[in-house]
Amino acid sequence: MDISVIVPLYNEAESLPELQAWIERVMQANGFTYEVIYVNDGSTDNSWEVIEELCRRNPAVRGVCFRRNYGKSPALNTGFARAKGDVVITMDADLQDSPDEIPELYRMITEDGYDLVSGWKQKRYDPLSKTIPTKLFNATARKVSGIKNLHDFNCGLKAYRQKVVKRIEVYGDMHRYIPYLAKNAGFNKIGEKVVKHQARKYGTTKFGLDRFVNGYLDLATLWFTNKFGIKPMHLFGLLGSLMFMLGFIAVVIVGAAKIYAMHSGGHYTLVTNSPYFFIALTMMILGTQLFLTGFLGELIVRNSSRRNEYEIEMETGGGETPAATNEK
Ligand code: UDP
Ligand code: MG
Repeated sequence: MDISVIVPLYNEAESLPELQAWIERVMQANGFTYEVIYVNDGSTDNSWEVIEELCRRNPAVRGVCFRRNYGKSPALNTGFARAKGDVVITMDADLQDSPDEIPELYRMITEDGYDLVSGWKQKRYDPLSKTIPTKLFNATARKVSGIKNLHDFNCGLKAYRQKVVKRIEVYGDMHRYIPYLAKNAGFNKIGEKVVKHQARKYGTTKFGLDRFVNGYLDLATLWFTNKFGIKPMHLFGLLGSLMFMLGFIAVVIVGAAKIYAMHSGGHYTLVTNSPYFFIALTMMILGTQLFLTGFLGELIVRNSSRRNEYEIEMETGGGETPAATNEK
């Protein structure tokens, strides 16, 4: 099968028939073999009935229905697990993304050799309250992830080589960082294509302004787990040791000053009158805690069943025919 289209949706009943008809038009015009997987993320409108109707009309349509609303990432992850196409395309259900982009995205994966191609809504039809923070957000994501050529991390329209979606795990709200997840899994050929964007035709947006706060927190988590996930002591141990040392040096200075003052017979005060005493104390306590946090992190990693899982691209030798081991 050439293409799997995955559509996560939450209360988008009005858009679905139009979207499905449009996808079918594009697929037929280009002669693709395909499937469309609608993941109904606990909609409270009649989206599921609409999906069932679409399935009856076209055997290429499949539906998955969550019992409650989990979020866009779990919906995508569920679709990824079921996708059978060589190229997997994700698309929002609200008709903001255009199915007309599918053939070119498919070509970029199959001919240009990209692992992932992300849409770039260069000209957006969203309110300013969304487009300005988005610019900032993308600049930070570029910097932290090191994927310098992406302008629009969170575009719903993306295309993937099948093995990419089988390798990455999207959870929480991590759909905003799928290119970063892919890069962390060793997929380096990440490209971009300018795509047409339209104003929302039906319904309302499902994300409020809290998307930006959560977005930044998730980015911090990803950065940390990628860099120190299997060696937490390298961060906490270093910070803890540094702080403890500084505190210790400060204590020695405070103590030495006191002893010197006592012996030189001059006027001396209690060490607790010196602000440095408290600074030293706090630093030593915090330093010890950071160090212990590092140790606890290491113990947790030691117990993780995934501590020794690596991305193996292929293996060869030993008299057997070389085979790509990770292909699914
Ligand atoms: N969506 C979802 N679960 C949610 C929220 C959103 O499946 O909890 C879907 C939604 O139905 C749409 C896509 O994710 O197909 C993008 O959402 P939306 O258009 O509201 O986001 P925006 O375009 O405003 O960024
Ligand atoms: Mg939208």
